[in-house]
Amino acid sequence: MKKTRKAGGIYNGIYLDYAASTPVAPEVKRAMQPYFSEFFGNPGSLHSFGQEAIAAVDAARETIAKAIRAEFREVIFTSGATEANNLALRGVVSAVWHILRGNGRLSAPAAESGLSSRPDGSDIRVGDQSRRGSEMFRVKHAAPRNLNNNVKPKLIVSAIEHESILNTAYALEAEGVEVAVLPVDKKGIVDLKKLEGMLDERTALLSVMYVNNEIGSVQPLAAIAKLISDFRKESGTSPLFHTDAAQAFEYFECDIKKLGIDLMTLSSQKMYGPKGAGALYIRNKELGIMNYESGKRRDGAITPNSRFVVPEITGGGQEFGLRSGTENVPAIVGFGKALARAEKKRKEHAKYVGALKDYFLKGLRKIYPKVRENGISRAPHIVNLYFPTEFTGDFLVKMDMAGIAVSSGSACSARSFTPSHVLHAIGLPSERVRGSVRFSFGVPTTTREIDEALRRMRNVL
Ligand code: PMP
Repeated sequence: MKKTRKAGGIYNGIYLDYAASTPVAPEVKRAMQPYFSEFFGNPGSLHSFGQEAIAAVDAARETIAKAIRAEFREVIFTSGATEANNLALRGVVSAVWHILRGNGRLSAPAAESGLSSRPDGSDIRVGDQSRRGSEMFRVKHAAPRNLNNNVKPKLIVSAIEHESILNTAYALEAEGVEVAVLPVDKKGIVDLKKLEGMLDERTALLSVMYVNNEIGSVQPLAAIAKLISDFRKESGTSPLFHTDAAQAFEYFECDIKKLGIDLMTLSSQKMYGPKGAGALYIRNKELGIMNYESGKRRDGAITPNSRFVVPEITGGGQEFGLRSGTENVPAIVGFGKALARAEKKRKEHAKYVGALKDYFLKGLRKIYPKVRENGISRAPHIVNLYFPTEFTGDFLVKMDMAGIAVSSGSACSARSFTPSHVLHAIGLPSERVRGSVRFSFGVPTTTREIDEALRRMRNVL
């Protein structure tokens, strides 16, 4: 049993909340160690201390890019999945707003933008050797055709997205963006027919997560991408497809080419890496996404013009201008190491954790036959369960007192016991939503721990 430090001291805690966070793997910790005090330079500095740091950041970027079959420059480090999701939604929507409002141009003249054109008219990148602010992405067709300034961009998000997508979408809605919520069926899978009806010429972005963090449903991303691709051909517009793969990478292949993804969120802390690191993959090909030149406004503020993703955080121009601020070098190094490890051990981990989950469910059904699964989890590590005799809040407290750490859903809402929007979205009645809890398993979980958890749960129930 893991000795876990608690406010009141050390207790024999059983952690079954790996979807909320995973412990940093020992080899990841070792890889990070030298970057706290030995190689501590600022990656932006030209001297050798800085160069050591940027080399480590770039090595992590290279590892991540290779694993998802992206290019080096398509991986933007962020502080985690929340920030990556914000950058995806706000960044694309801002770009489209700028274009619609006439602040940006769809195709800036080469001389002005630092771009030049190929004979076929497609832009090529020039003068972008620096990783600093002179480089950015730009899309030729980001704005739907035939639009005037009164038209709003539209954002489509699935009903079971993480709060960092949903609340960002609602914040954008308050700023005038049209937000359409794509429903899911009782298994927690998006409705493709409804999606087809929702896509229109104003659609700037569709965001559908890969693996749901509360019920473990897995979305048919390739089928969604095909639908988007057909729509692009038909309409001549380019809605982009973003997926939040924070819960996916540890157990599912995240090949952006096979999946047909334009933007993808990754999170280090869900794959035995440290907190404080995540990434947004942004496709820079085919859609005509290019570098941009930041324009200086008269008042001196930097205002990027014609671009595809507008940075949320502006400053020194790190991360190819898309995410300013000195890189969190140790966390990024750890993220790279954790991702390489996850990629290498994916099959083994999925098999082991999936078997543990089955073992737990079998044991639980024996001691509490009334238990029911919510939705259908295809993720090895997650299961969401309904306990008809329990209220989630009280149950979580009782479980915690028994030394079992589980949660009601996403970590951020767990503290306030907010009824789960995901369970409502799959059509469960309020009473069932109020009696449901998520269990999630991890590589460090053992059958001994599960036996002990079941023994304690017998008392709780
Ligand atoms: N997306 C998903 C699917 C998640 O599970 C989480 C973490 N619960 C997040 C985004 C947010 O991650 P973070 O809090 O690390 O930014």
